Amino acid sequence: MIPYGRQHITAEDIAAVQAVLQSDFLTQGPVVPAFEQQFCALTGARYAVAVNSATSALHLACLALGVKPGSRVWTSPISFVASANCARYCGASVDFVDVEPDSGNLCLASLRQKLEEARLKDALPEVVIAVHLAGLSCDMQQLHHLAAEFDFRIIEDASHAVGAAFLEQPVGSCQYSDITVFSFHPVKIITTAEGGMALTNEPNLARQLQLLRSHGISRDPDEMTEPAHGPWYYQQLQLGYNYRMTDLQAALGLSQSQRLNAIIEKRQQLAARYQQHLVGAALDCPIVPNGSLCSYHLFIVRLHDKTRRKAVFEALRQAGIGVNVHYIPIHTQPYYQQLGFDWGDFPNAEDFYERIISLPLYPELTESEQDYIVATLKALL
Ligand SMILES: *Cc1c(COP(=O)(O)O)cnc(C)c1O
Repeated sequence: MIPYGRQHITAEDIAAVQAVLQSDFLTQGPVVPAFEQQFCALTGARYAVAVNSATSALHLACLALGVKPGSRVWTSPISFVASANCARYCGASVDFVDVEPDSGNLCLASLRQKLEEARLKDALPEVVIAVHLAGLSCDMQQLHHLAAEFDFRIIEDASHAVGAAFLEQPVGSCQYSDITVFSFHPVKIITTAEGGMALTNEPNLARQLQLLRSHGISRDPDEMTEPAHGPWYYQQLQLGYNYRMTDLQAALGLSQSQRLNAIIEKRQQLAARYQQHLVGAALDCPIVPNGSLCSYHLFIVRLHDKTRRKAVFEALRQAGIGVNVHYIPIHTQPYYQQLGFDWGDFPNAEDFYERIISLPLYPELTESEQDYIVATLKALL
């Protein structure tokens, strides 16, 4: 089976992890800060806080922005469940904003309308989480304008968008957001096996993220409520977690990030070949606006005839092609239905879901495998 996504591990990656295994520190050593520095350099963000998953990073991002019971957080229904669950961990209520039919990203016209209605009811959200589906950034400039007008904070769930750009700026620069989150799960752009990162330009948010990832414990005398008792002394200032990344993971990520440009270029080449060879087929390929660079974590096609999606999907799997669907709308999950959501709530998201298939895309996908995928798909359509 050709998978839809797959990690790419080189001899250098293995050597980097092995070097940590033979060093003094498997965790809380020098490699996590080096990995964080690398991401500040890649994105231009002032602070990077590495953690053990993007889910943890989203949770900490919500906490750092003050999300708590009674808070309102809005996000996209076309995402992995973690984009919404992070707010639920904090006891907040979650709502969704319908998506654009082409990109599956948050629709800013729908968002404006929903914000205007919410303002009349005095029920504006504290935080909006924008998801860059497949590695294509949302229109962050417009979202930033809305945030100023309606007074909410922005988290970018850029789990798919490591190496992507918006208006020629790297995603992760946080130019238009408070915090950006990346995922390093093996199917994503680069991997640490499990891992994630939160980036920000605000020192107070960075400090909150750092404290919360490690039990809320500080060793900084300036943050303590009484003088240190001795060199061993630390204080727990808040209720934090153990969300730390290990140095083994950071070594893998640091090694992988050194070839990020090559990985993105390869993904773009493969995506361009899909676009070129699927011309004329009864489907739509992704559209990338000027100024944006899509990292192509996923290559999502939308079938013209959604009644055939299931049959086409099953036939592709039968032909050894590991297609997938990203995503089942979050609001239709039983957990969210229990909270009052139902089918019909976000029609664009549901229509998008019903016609999409994610085709295999990863750096080691060969051109002949890709030709086989294209030929099989075209024959089926
Ligand atoms: C993968 C993913 C996550 C969660 O990432 P983990 O690192 O597995 O926790 C969150 N949001 C989106 C959009 C994702 O694709």
